[in-house]
Amino acid sequence: MSILSEGQSGNRVLLMGNDAIARGALEAGVNVISGYPGTPSSEIIQNLLQVAKERNLYVEWSANEKVALEVSAAASFAGLRAMCVMKQVGVNVASDFLLHLSLYGTRGALVLVSCEDPGALSSTNEGESRPYAQMMEFPLLEPGDFQEALEMTQWAFDLSEEIRNVVMIRSVTRMSHASGNVVLGALPTLTPRAVFNHEGPLLGQMEGPVATIPGIVDFMHRRQQDKLKKVTALFDASPFNTYSGPEAPDLLIITSSVCHLYSKEAIELLHASHRVGLLKLGTTWPLPPKTLEAALRRSDKVLIVEETLPLMEDNIKAFAVERIGTIGPKTFFGKKEGALPPINELNPDCVVTAIAGIFGLPYEGMPATYADRAAAIAAKGAPVRDLTFCPGCPHRASFWSIHAAIAMDNRRGFVCGDIGCYTLAAGATGFKTLKTVHAMGSGAGIASGFGKLAAFGFNQPVLAVCGDSTFFHAAIPALVNAVHNRSNLILVVLDNSGTAMTGFQPHPGLPTDAMGGNALALSIPDICKAIGAKVSICDPFDLPNTQKTLLALLEEKDGVNVLILRQPCALSPQKKNKKRFHMHVDNTKCIGDACGCNRLCTRVFKCPGLTWNSELKSSEIDEVLCAGCGVCASICPSGAIEVKEVE
Ligand code: SF4
Ligand code: SF4
Repeated sequence: MSILSEGQSGNRVLLMGNDAIARGALEAGVNVISGYPGTPSSEIIQNLLQVAKERNLYVEWSANEKVALEVSAAASFAGLRAMCVMKQVGVNVASDFLLHLSLYGTRGALVLVSCEDPGALSSTNEGESRPYAQMMEFPLLEPGDFQEALEMTQWAFDLSEEIRNVVMIRSVTRMSHASGNVVLGALPTLTPRAVFNHEGPLLGQMEGPVATIPGIVDFMHRRQQDKLKKVTALFDASPFNTYSGPEAPDLLIITSSVCHLYSKEAIELLHASHRVGLLKLGTTWPLPPKTLEAALRRSDKVLIVEETLPLMEDNIKAFAVERIGTIGPKTFFGKKEGALPPINELNPDCVVTAIAGIFGLPYEGMPATYADRAAAIAAKGAPVRDLTFCPGCPHRASFWSIHAAIAMDNRRGFVCGDIGCYTLAAGATGFKTLKTVHAMGSGAGIASGFGKLAAFGFNQPVLAVCGDSTFFHAAIPALVNAVHNRSNLILVVLDNSGTAMTGFQPHPGLPTDAMGGNALALSIPDICKAIGAKVSICDPFDLPNTQKTLLALLEEKDGVNVLILRQPCALSPQKKNKKRFHMHVDNTKCIGDACGCNRLCTRVFKCPGLTWNSELKSSEIDEVLCAGCGVCASICPSGAIEVKEVE
């Protein structure tokens, strides 16, 4: 049982934004859900998986976001209701197919949910996908609170079927991961039947082949724009766009998403509700013209509050220029003129500062000393935590060997990385081994490019790393490219048997699917061999053998070699709380600074399971943190760390 299915209609419950989106999809009668994990989006699918059997849903973690969208599109083409979920960078991956899909349109409802990360709290960038809605011409909705996250999701399915096109819902971290009171609606009884009608005319929205081909693009593009006109009228009547405040405020705030909550709080904090009007837009593309015009007539000063790009700001300014004859000239405030910061998350204080600046009120956000005091108190009350791999993480061992092999080879070799737990290897925890980090699969792709530069005098060894989930997500095409073009590189697949960073979602290399059923596990070595790469496999915990293999591969120089370093993640269900070794430091051998090792284990290898005891002047094993992997025994030059197999 889950809160998603047990809550009765009319119940008031505390739901996280992602729970509310999942419940909204259930209330809408969703049948098929697909996606690729990524913070802050993952809980939506995790939640729906819990009720998949009971609600007769098909749910999958797809190999990547483009494939996920294609899977959901197939359900839509067969007349079912589908939802596809990803984080902001995933929309970039899906965007190739998304462009075609939005042009042709859909049949059963198809809702694309993009959960985004202003401030890059758990991302390598703070890119956003709202511009895709404008560029590809489909409607965009942004819930302004938790109740709306539910109701808007439900409505998005109806809207998608009304216009027969993709509808995108954009959430942000503070909406997806914060919680609020939500009143539940009813769950429908479903009797879905999937049929793909493909015998009708080519241009038939509901019967013919689903194809975007030259010669009919202009017809489809016009049809798509007619749909948008319909959307515009629907948006003007939408209850998700609300105005609150005086008839003629001194300042009008136009906002959306979680910035709506920040703006409300800022108005309250300043006791300015008699001076400031608040237009909260839930439908942010296309803009609702009548709603917007009515609001703009109210005030000559307009502050636009949004994260992260000034997308609404640009569009509203353009709209105001068009309508200047009826609404009169306006003074705009926002990100462009500097009232609000152009990057990072906003918060109520940012909005208070902006309003106070516009009104000329003497307001200083936080006292200058506040941040210093907070930092001092936090330093006392909370332990300092380095950004580091977990105790017993196979990646620490892998990068130890990779780093050592490159150093021994001594030709300025380097590693191209990408997105995963192993991104940490750009820093001290991975011995600063990664020298490029971009999108998923880009390590292999960039290495493929470096590996072709010999004609220009380039003679540095090139390695790339990717995780096992990333291998299926995006590294295979790069590997194909490298083999086909006779690039010279070593791809190290850090196979820890799961999509560990986001919670061990299954991927195509594992024998289970998202719903817990049996799946065909695809073999990474077989795939690499089939492509034409030479393949080696090592246990990264076996440092001597891994380093010997890497050195041999570095000496090979020509062609594409794949080294698979296979060892399950220390936090994987099969390993968690199970030690392979009892570890012990022999204080007679570990004499710290006096022995000449320079405390290699705690200063360089830095597994959190090892600590330096300054009184004893010796290293120690922290029994609570140590995962018992045994690797540190291999790195101590004095042989002071002992391993004993757990019986
Ligand atoms: S355990 Fe080994 S590496 Fe660590 S300080 Fe002692 S002698 Fe040095
Ligand atoms: S055995 Fe050594 S390397 Fe492994 S978790 Fe324990 S302290 Fe860390």
